Amino acid sequence: MGRDHGERIGRTIGCRRCGRKRGMVRRYGLRLCRQCFRDSAPELGFKKYE
Ligand SMILES: [Zn+2]
Repeated sequence: MGRDHGERIGRTIGCRRCGRKRGMVRRYGLRLCRQCFRDSAPELGFKKYE
């Protein structure tokens, strides 16, 4: 049914925030690159990780 969001789950490769494929963080099922992860971590409630 009409999903116009254009974001399919399952075959989406790359950061869902910036679309980069490098440095992906698959932890926590976030599908974010490291940069966006670091940027979003505080908002998501994660502490800085190294
Ligand atoms: Zn990103």
